[in-house]
Amino acid sequence: MLARVDRNRLEALLAELGQPSYRARQVLDARRAGAVSWPDVTALPKALRARLGGELSLWALQPEDAQESADGTIKWRMRGSDGVTVETVLIAHDRGRRTVCISSQAGCALGCRFCATGLAGPGRDLSADEIADQAEFAAAQAATRGARLGNVVFMGMGEPLQNLEAVLGGVRTLRSVDGLGLSGRRIAISTVGWVPGIRALAESGEPVRLAVSLHGSDDATRSELMPINTRWPIASLLAECRRYCDTTGRRVFIEYLLLDGVNDAPADARRLAELLRDGRFHVNLIEYNPTGTPYRASPGDARERFRAALAAAGIEASVRRSRGADVDAACGQLAGRSEPTLQLASSAK
Ligand code: SF4
Repeated sequence: MLARVDRNRLEALLAELGQPSYRARQVLDARRAGAVSWPDVTALPKALRARLGGELSLWALQPEDAQESADGTIKWRMRGSDGVTVETVLIAHDRGRRTVCISSQAGCALGCRFCATGLAGPGRDLSADEIADQAEFAAAQAATRGARLGNVVFMGMGEPLQNLEAVLGGVRTLRSVDGLGLSGRRIAISTVGWVPGIRALAESGEPVRLAVSLHGSDDATRSELMPINTRWPIASLLAECRRYCDTTGRRVFIEYLLLDGVNDAPADARRLAELLRDGRFHVNLIEYNPTGTPYRASPGDARERFRAALAAAGIEASVRRSRGADVDAACGQLAGRSEPTLQLASSAK
């Protein structure tokens, strides 16, 4: 398996080959400009491209194909050198703003009942380079479309806190000058409640945002939706979240997926408000996207009643609109099996 390019690896190899060190910058610039593979790095002589390509891969995950939603959201299937596939989604907002949703594992063992990745079963952990490359590739592709990547969210395939060391390595790359130079506030790590990982994340000192998928306001409902709740029930999860707030001085974002007739009654909202009433949380209400499970999205009026019941109990909540659902790129829909409908920007040159 070839290591992926970075400044140190490139400079060491170029020195060994008797090549000037500015070639390293040319390679990194080509990645940022949307180069998908070595032949796209046209600033380098062909022979040097071939030589470098024999020693280093341009990307740790090779983008294979893409699907573009009617709303401008793009989903890529990325393949590792061992053949695993993951999905990465560039979410389109207005005014050219983009968020990338990246994967941390090629599959997931946690089996949340509403999630396509969970239904597909476990896979291996991604490396720090594989994690960072999803965001760097998406940023380059956004730039080729005149858009700007502003945020990175770990809400793709896998449970990031089960693979925390690699996730933190990826975060450090994304925050570095050679990466995307993003501030930690622009990076959100989302967990379904892997409690030891929440503590380790707080202790890591990385100034990222933490989002916790709750999706239920009582243990019976949550355990039905998310088997992890039998290991760490709501009380122990929220206790760890409060410890996180105390350690980091940051609040926690609570994600709540609204499912018709399952967890969307006003009584659920009042119970949720009671759980969160010390003001250290912000609630995001999420629209459910079809994933081949028996669940259905809450209708708009139920969603509004839920939000109003939370507000009446003193909890402000934002509603997160679904993006990219027509190409299975929305929350919960990623399963690493997309069909191509779009050429990659640089391969279309
Ligand atoms: S929601 Fe996240 S943790 Fe749950 S099965 Fe899907 S990928 Fe895994």
